[in-house]
Amino acid sequence: MSNSTKQAFRGPLIIISGPSGSGKSTLVKELLKDKSMPLEGAISVTTRKMRPFEVDGVDYFFWDKMKFQDGVSKGSFLEWAEVYGNYYGTLISEVDARRTRGIGVVLEIDVQGAGQIRKTGAISKSIFVVPPDMNACEARLRSRGTETEETLAKRLASAKQEMEQAAEYDFKVVNDDLEKAVVKIKDLIRPLFIER
Ligand code: 5GP
Repeated sequence: MSNSTKQAFRGPLIIISGPSGSGKSTLVKELLKDKSMPLEGAISVTTRKMRPFEVDGVDYFFWDKMKFQDGVSKGSFLEWAEVYGNYYGTLISEVDARRTRGIGVVLEIDVQGAGQIRKTGAISKSIFVVPPDMNACEARLRSRGTETEETLAKRLASAKQEMEQAAEYDFKVVNDDLEKAVVKIKDLIRPLFIER
């Protein structure tokens, strides 16, 4: 193919899901520190309350429900879902422009959102982060100190259902050792940047 007819490389879309407490946020943060691949994270929108130490526009865009619903009706979201009683969604504007520039985009989203994007055939690779066991999940959530007993129970109850969706993903990565899990994910993603 000559250079003039060669299509511009579109950055891959990588989905990472896993139950709350699986450690996937830390994994994604570590992954995005790797500058050997053109990879960026999309910042999601959420209607949940901001946690101490979270920053609007960095960890999430924190919107109220009305603004979120307005975004849904305007078609601003690539996907959105209600998770643990709050709305979460990925803005198209966080994804498309980057991919057009050849940048890979990582979405850390729940199983419902992943299912919506899977239907469109837009996923380049999907990875499910599995906690070593449910005790580790609970311990991680408790040590984070961000949940009440009520929200903790909600998250742990959903974890089992989410784990049942793991088979829908291209790969499962057990997060028993952060460093090793990050290396594994990088190895899974790297081939996506080799132009065919
Ligand atoms: P947290 O409240 O702990 O930050 O996130 C709760 C859950 O929402 C996690 O499973 C996370 O992956 C998911 N989540 C975060 N952003 C999005 C999003 O944009 N869309 C969907 N569907 N889920 C999201």
